[in-house]
Amino acid sequence: MAYTDYIFEGYRKRLAELRESTNPFADGIAWTGGDYMPVHEATVPLLDNGFMKSDLAYDVPAVWDGRYFRLDDHIERFERSCAKLRLTCPIPREELRHRLIEMVARSGIRDAYVMMIVTRGLRYLRQYAPEECENRCYLMVTPFLWVIDEELQKTGASAIIARDVRRVPPGAMDPTVKNLQWGDFTRALLEARDRGCSYALLTDGDRNLAEGSGFNVVLVKDGRLFTPARGVLEGVTRKSVLLAADRLGIPWEITDVPVSAAYDCDEMMFVTTAGGVMPVTTLDGEKVGDGSVGPVTQALWKAYWDQHYDPEASFAVSYE
Ligand SMILES: *Cc1c(COP(=O)(O)O)cnc(C)c1O
Repeated sequence: MAYTDYIFEGYRKRLAELRESTNPFADGIAWTGGDYMPVHEATVPLLDNGFMKSDLAYDVPAVWDGRYFRLDDHIERFERSCAKLRLTCPIPREELRHRLIEMVARSGIRDAYVMMIVTRGLRYLRQYAPEECENRCYLMVTPFLWVIDEELQKTGASAIIARDVRRVPPGAMDPTVKNLQWGDFTRALLEARDRGCSYALLTDGDRNLAEGSGFNVVLVKDGRLFTPARGVLEGVTRKSVLLAADRLGIPWEITDVPVSAAYDCDEMMFVTTAGGVMPVTTLDGEKVGDGSVGPVTQALWKAYWDQHYDPEASFAVSYE
């Protein structure tokens, strides 16, 4: 039995039920300012600067087994991201929260990937002050997405450290704003493809690790966790993992992590809402540690998924 079975078996069952569902929103539901609609029918106006200039902020919480996980952490980070870009969500927080819950309930999706986006809107900043721009809000709920799928989580994924591109520096794009200026990540993904895998870690260009396309990295060395301090989004999953580490008595540091530490660690994980704690067992074609999913990763993996049933961190959606 794989260490992942206890959580993935239930998920598989719920997914099979969802596929049988006749709910018109079972493939996903969207809100762009009017009525709810199936996600595949939702569109963005061509002239929205969110599309034209990636002038937007977003966030992604998830629902697991019918329970929202750390929704308020995501909404709070979303509001901080918006504030840093001088964006304002056009609907108040209470309405945003209510819609995010209502959309999950209407769709019947038990394991959901949830996205909230605020864009600058149709007016361009060269001609208008930020307060003259009518910012737009887009919401969607789809079935859960896996950065590293369940099968691969049993054995661990293969990744590279990108050589051709570095993470955008904090002085160019503030990495603590969850944003979709993915030029660096896209280049790294192309390099990963060329080098025979699907995952890339980016450095800060000064010999430290940063992060990958939508995930933070955590290394294990001699029973201690290390995760980069700078040039990264402050991930909610990372926070959950460090909280779990506290409870398990595993020491950790948010610090500068030199690239060399990645080649010298015992275990490596990529961590994100869209997939949780995901083991990486091959780096640049070489084994990470002994090449298996290590004991610290397995313990944190279980603790992370257990938190999804903890009322301190999650609440049930009422689907009626
Ligand atoms: C979303 C994201 C993460 C992970 O954040 P979580 O809150 O754990 O989902 C890490 N890095 C980047 C660049 C991201 O966009």
